[in-house]
This record gives sequence, C-alpha cells and structure tokens, in this order.
Amino acid sequence: MNVLINEVKLQTRIKEMARQIEKDYEGKQIVFLGILKGSLPFLWELAKNIKNDVRFEFIEASSYEGTESTGKIKINKDITDSIEGKDVIIVEDIVDTGRTLTYLKEYLLAKHPNSLKIAALLSKPSRRVMEIGVEYIGFQIEDKFVVGFGLDYDQKYRNLPYVGYIE
Ligand code: 5GP
Repeated sequence: MNVLINEVKLQTRIKEMARQIEKDYEGKQIVFLGILKGSLPFLWELAKNIKNDVRFEFIEASSYEGTESTGKIKINKDITDSIEGKDVIIVEDIVDTGRTLTYLKEYLLAKHPNSLKIAALLSKPSRRVMEIGVEYIGFQIEDKFVVGFGLDYDQKYRNLPYVGYIE
C-alpha cells in the first residue's frame, strides 16, 4: 500500500474546508447528507470542526462493482428526515465520472431543500463524464484507484487513516 495523502494533510485540508463552510453558512443550520459508506470519515472530520448546528442524514447509492463503474445508480437506503427548506450539503468521498452525484443531486432537489451544495474529499477531474459543479473539493488527484479514509476495495481498507493506492 502506498500513501497518497497522509493523515496530517487530510486533517489540515479538511479543517480549511470546515472554516470555509462555516463562513459560507454563518449562523445557519446545515444538514450534512453523507453518501454511505465511503463519506463517513470525511463527514465526521468536517463536522467536528464546524460550530454551526449540524444535522446528519445518510443515503446509500451504488454505482460500482469492484473497481469498474457499471454506469448504473441505485438507491439502497434513503434519507429518513425531510430536507424540505433545509440547507443541505451532500458529503461524498470521491467524484469520479460524476454520475452518482449528478443523479443524486437531481433526486434530492426534488425534495425541495432551501439550498443544495456538494463537498467531496477527492476529485478525479480526468475521469469526468458528467459535468457536475462541486462547491467544496479537498484534493484533486490523478486517475488512480485509491482506498482508505472511507474508500474501499471490495469493502476492505475503509478504516485506513490515510488515502492510499495499491500498485
Ligand atoms: P462516480 O459516479 O463519480 O463515477 O463515482 C463515485 C463513486 O465511485 C464513489 O463514491 C466511490 O464509491 C467510487 N469510486 C470512484 N473512484 C474511486 C476510487 O479511486 N477508489 C474507490 N475506492 N472508489 C472509487
């Protein structure tokens, strides 16, 4: 396993993102809508550095089998509370082709939040198929299959404290 982004770099960058979000949402309640399962460590690291009233919601969508995108998105677990009129930030581990977020954004907009933005820890711009605006991006990375800090390979490696890749 090779380290691509170490623990300190992750924490430093996520704190910066948290400060930006605090500034943009001053005095507002924010709903962090995490995409399961990969967003969990990022969502927590972000949330614990934000002083706003932060609420959690989760949705599970899948588009991936192994390392290849099937291009199909399906919702396995939906949110449980209404997001109507709320200021929502979708929290995602990585934006690859952009298919998942494009689909989810449309799906969630139909639930009439007051605002809907996206925070992604990682982005692979060279892999993009769908153009999707992502307001908060932690790191842009090259086209490598990465694991750790929430990201898996067949459900393994999610608990690594860093982002790494396998040669
Ligand atoms: P997209 O719909 O943007 O192509 O894919 C988003 C999803 O694909 C992510 O939430 C993640 O589950 C998976 N994915 C994309 N690239 C990687 C990667 O490099 N490593 C891992 N572990 N998952 C990835």
